[in-house]
Amino acid sequence: MFSFNECTEGRPRTRKKYHLLTAELRDKKGRIIVSATNSYKKTHPMQKHWASKTTKPDAIYLHAEVHALMRARYQLHLVHSLHVFRYDAHGNPAPAKPCPVCQQAIAWAKIKHVYFTCEDGIEYERH
Ligand SMILES: [Zn+2]
Repeated sequence: MFSFNECTEGRPRTRKKYHLLTAELRDKKGRIIVSATNSYKKTHPMQKHWASKTTKPDAIYLHAEVHALMRARYQLHLVHSLHVFRYDAHGNPAPAKPCPVCQQAIAWAKIKHVYFTCEDGIEYERH
């Protein structure tokens, strides 16, 4: 249903150690509704809000997962799964498990199917 090749196909290679973490929200048929990346410059009140509910209140820069949820705010009823992935300069998968701040946002959005990259490939969690 979701493979690592899907994450890397057609995407530019990075010269940095890691590609930006990317989060995609998909519908029941697996079609991408929105795609968003981490930001180290942009803050957002929603990110701040979810961060304040965890032990990481200073995590105010937009995480890919929160960023994607904000972009899809009028289409949340269509969201079936969340896919979070990151890969290194060699195209190998890297850990991208949603952090406690994003877990809060995922629970709020009632997303049940969460896929993320880890060093061995893709992991799945049912929420
Ligand atoms: Zn996060």
